Amino acid sequence: MRILVQNIKELLVWGRLHLRLEQARFRGVKIKIWIRDDDAIEFTRELSEFLEAMHDFPISLAVIPGNIKDTLVNVLKMHPRLTILQHGWMHENRSTGLPSEFPDGLEEKQVVAELKRGYNILNNMFPEHYYPIFVPPWNRIGDDIVEDFHQIPLGGLSVFGNDSGPISITNINTHVDIMDWQLGTGQSTYMILKCLINEIELRLEHDVDTPIGILTHHLKHDLRLNTRLKNIVTILNSKQAVDWLVFPPRNNRARV
Ligand SMILES: [Zn+2]
Repeated sequence: MRILVQNIKELLVWGRLHLRLEQARFRGVKIKIWIRDDDAIEFTRELSEFLEAMHDFPISLAVIPGNIKDTLVNVLKMHPRLTILQHGWMHENRSTGLPSEFPDGLEEKQVVAELKRGYNILNNMFPEHYYPIFVPPWNRIGDDIVEDFHQIPLGGLSVFGNDSGPISITNINTHVDIMDWQLGTGQSTYMILKCLINEIELRLEHDVDTPIGILTHHLKHDLRLNTRLKNIVTILNSKQAVDWLVFPPRNNRARV
């Protein structure tokens, strides 16, 4: 595959990625990677373009159940390898500090009712594809609320970074954000690769196999950003050093 390299910095960072993937392959190590795309509520042009670009790769779509539209079910026709995750309830900020829909201090009965409604909506709409991992809006959730997960029942939590929740649940996070939120645009190939390589190096150095999560927000992407990501994941895929994390199918819900 030929990729048009924009500058010398980018050329060097592609070289570093090749080197690290070769090292992993030589050591017989597989780097686990997954892609989490946030904020889906309906089948939009942006979602269609993103899924088309990512057609060959498994995607986990974090869906906001309280705002969902019937058209979203069409995503399955376009991308049968989708996993659906629960992204909050209505994606409303209820925190007095940093944004969070589920900060500590909310009434437990209300929280459990909202989480359950969200669970049921997604479970009914995507019976074969829904996987009960909770993605809190703004990647923040109160510790007390995670304690209530068993009542829903939610089996896991996905945030951004290397923090983890209780060991009683699956923690599967994202680490590489392809958006530059200050500028409101996509990150350059150089920046995405730099962040990704840091995560790969961490795993190779410390011999850990925690999956690396790539975080995307299809509504904010343009076609160039989708192409950038497609180029990166295509190269990752070609090196036989990467395993794409796939959530178990509905009838075989072992822990990931
Ligand atoms: Zn969100």
